[in-house]
Amino acid sequence: MKIILTGTGSPLPDPHRAGPSTVITTASTTILVDAGRAVVMRLAASGIIPPFLSAVVLTHLHSDHICDLNDVVTTHWVMSPEPTDLHVYGPKGTAEVVDGLLMMLDSDIRYRMTHHADLHEAPRVVVHELEAGQRFLVGDVSVLTGATDHGPVKPSLGYRFTGEGVSAVVAGDGVPCAGLDELVRGADAYVQTVVREDLVRLVPRQRFNEILSYHSTVQQAANTAQRGGVQTLVLTHFIPAPSPGEYDGWRALASDFDGVVVTGDDLTQVSVTPPPS
Ligand SMILES: [Zn+2]
Ligand SMILES: [Zn+2]
Repeated sequence: MKIILTGTGSPLPDPHRAGPSTVITTASTTILVDAGRAVVMRLAASGIIPPFLSAVVLTHLHSDHICDLNDVVTTHWVMSPEPTDLHVYGPKGTAEVVDGLLMMLDSDIRYRMTHHADLHEAPRVVVHELEAGQRFLVGDVSVLTGATDHGPVKPSLGYRFTGEGVSAVVAGDGVPCAGLDELVRGADAYVQTVVREDLVRLVPRQRFNEILSYHSTVQQAANTAQRGGVQTLVLTHFIPAPSPGEYDGWRALASDFDGVVVTGDDLTQVSVTPPPS
């Protein structure tokens, strides 16, 4: 199994970081987790076009995590040679978002269907609204949902992907909680969106400081990883975005975790392999 950090940014615009998204791949399955700013460009850079996606899963409905879902839907539609379902999994509320997105695209869908004789169907988006504790299969990957705490954004979900003998958790945004601990326990890799509390507190703006109340700090992510006994902690959704050479400072804050800490730019890849026996 491989993890690709297709977008390591946050709502704060950054020329070098796409908005939040992560890809989980096995030999036969490709799952996109969240669809932030410029996701289709980063997928293309990873050799993935939307018709190659086995499914899209959403951790929550904050705009930074879904703002380019429309591009995934349209590109999946126009690049598929035959009408093909795009399966979108997410928490309650996902169907309403997808309905609104298709309404926004209505003119475009009509233009293209009028122009292209072989495009006789609108995009087929199949939405699956999920609760915590559900299990489902996408190709050869078993997916388990877990409750995360990103209040007041409710509901929000983390996902544990199991395939090729390993498992990886993509937690999305949130602070540590029992649901996340349960999801992470015994996983091989754990991807957590993080903020640097020390740097955020330097900015004298209440709106900016308030992000600390519903995102894990690097230290909190390290503690969750340590409690869960995971091998590899992958940090993403960096707030504020590190400049080149600043990653060491981020990793140093995760010193409570005994395993490997991965930080990186967009398109960083992490191979998830079974622990040495
Ligand atoms: Zn969020
Ligand atoms: Zn976010």
